[in-house]
Amino acid sequence: AEQMEPDPSKKTLVILGTGWGSVSLLKKLDTENYNVIVISPRNYFLFTPLLPSCTTGMIEHRSIMEPIRNILRHKKATVKFYEAEATKIDHEKRVVYISDDSEVKGEISHTEVPFDMLVIGVGAENATFGIEGVRENSCFLKEVDDAQKIRKSIMDCVETAMFKDQAPEEVKRLLHTVVVGGGPTGVEFAGELQDFFNADLKKWIPDIKENFHVTLVEALPNVLPMFSKQLIDYTESTFKEESITIRTKTMVKKVTDKHIEAEVTRPDGTKEREIIPYGLLVWATGNAVRPVVRDLMSKIPAQKNSRRGLAVNEYLVVNGTENIWAVGDCAVANYAPTAQVASQEGTFLAHLLNSMAKAETIENELKRLSDVQAQAKSEEDRNAALGEIRECQRQLRRIKQIGPFQYSHQGSLAYIGKERAVADISWWAGNIASGGTLTYLFWRSAYLSMCFSTRNRVLVAFDWTKALLFGRDVSRE
Ligand code: FAD
Ligand code: NAD
Repeated sequence: AEQMEPDPSKKTLVILGTGWGSVSLLKKLDTENYNVIVISPRNYFLFTPLLPSCTTGMIEHRSIMEPIRNILRHKKATVKFYEAEATKIDHEKRVVYISDDSEVKGEISHTEVPFDMLVIGVGAENATFGIEGVRENSCFLKEVDDAQKIRKSIMDCVETAMFKDQAPEEVKRLLHTVVVGGGPTGVEFAGELQDFFNADLKKWIPDIKENFHVTLVEALPNVLPMFSKQLIDYTESTFKEESITIRTKTMVKKVTDKHIEAEVTRPDGTKEREIIPYGLLVWATGNAVRPVVRDLMSKIPAQKNSRRGLAVNEYLVVNGTENIWAVGDCAVANYAPTAQVASQEGTFLAHLLNSMAKAETIENELKRLSDVQAQAKSEEDRNAALGEIRECQRQLRRIKQIGPFQYSHQGSLAYIGKERAVADISWWAGNIASGGTLTYLFWRSAYLSMCFSTRNRVLVAFDWTKALLFGRDVSRE
């Protein structure tokens, strides 16, 4: 039944975030058990695996966004959504402080939301390691805005390089894209950009041919550390064919508006500083803890030794609390910060919360039945009540049997450009490591099938077809 106002007999469950963790939870949550409130500055879910393709217009960003309102309207009981950022969590008072940070603000833009139970799925922010100049000068690749900014900047650099009387050195700088971070984000972006150049840019603007260049900078000795050696080699050789330069053992130390300063470790172990000019700088060095999470961690003694996020137990309960859970990139459960982990955690938590609600209903029923039994007038009534009590106890035991969270790794998959992808897939018989065009077709179909909705799938398929027929759109919005 539709329920418009909070039901005072139910607990209030507040869910922070509309990313992989929170949305997977919402998908499977029986919302009629709780007064559910979702809070996120983003009123949509974003299918991040295809975000790198949005930077070149291969895919239009709206094709991988799904409005949260559309997800919520299909739930059995009403779920409230507030487009706001949680700025502070008071775990003792059981209150979340929220703030509307969007452009349009009403008379009230800051308020507080009390909760009985809280799920934190706010993800992470971009790591910069405090390196000077990063925030001011580079583009990140995490949100839709970031992808749009990169898409604009690519064309801005190209058109500026083509400006009348531009000096050759300056043309070279403007057409040089530096990507910092050789994790999957950096690798996928570098591949997409080089594809864009090969398939479209160099045909439309042949004058940039000689100078367009992509460099991927990585501090460690190799890129894609989570993949097997064979696939790392395959990626590196594909990049070589594509003429993307990989600079490993190169750690960026400082960034200015026109160049990066890096510390390069030479084969003999000596280190030297190098200045690398760039036109576009994309920064993809992984995750850092969000301030709201850091603040909460600092207030809970049990979180003292945790650095990378909220330490949780095997049921995803935030250590040091009893009514707060965390999922995804903001939680530390000894898994990599991936969509795969976040979505499995969200699904697990939905089952857990559904079971908890069921258990509570049965416990209340048990209380009622034991009263019935105590007040029974005849032996027969007493036995009948006892029978029901036993049945309830059996049900309760079954429900409470829910085991701890266990992650099941389906494999790693990444696009590396040139219509090639790499995959480390766990199969029942062992692991399969594969790279190449077939893997690319697998990558495409896997990501298509993982899209949130049929609408998203159709839009993405259209975008791919459109790019194939007409090329990517190079107009700068
Ligand atoms: P997110 O999905 O980041 O969601 C966090 C949510 O919290 C967002 O809705 C955000 O708006 C909201 N939020 C932020 N701050 C607040 C606040 N203060 N209060 C309330 N809400 C807040 N993983 C894979 O497994 N496979 C891939 O192919 C893959 N590709 C990726 C490609 C890119 C370009 C990127 C950036 C990541 C990719 N990942 C991939 C990683 C994956 O996206 C993350 O691990 C995943 O998004 C984590 O889910 P999450 O729910 O923890 O956080
Ligand atoms: P990452 O943490 O995986 O990689 C960041 C890289 O940046 C590291 O290799 C690190 O050595 C390097 N780095 C850090 N500081 C540097 C510096 N100053 N100079 C040079 N290099 C530096 O980050 P990511 O690629 O953004 O990925 C984040 C998470 O999202 C990961 O868990 C990843 O698995 C996941 N993800 C998965 C996919 C996929 O499966 N296709 C795609 C994107 C992201």
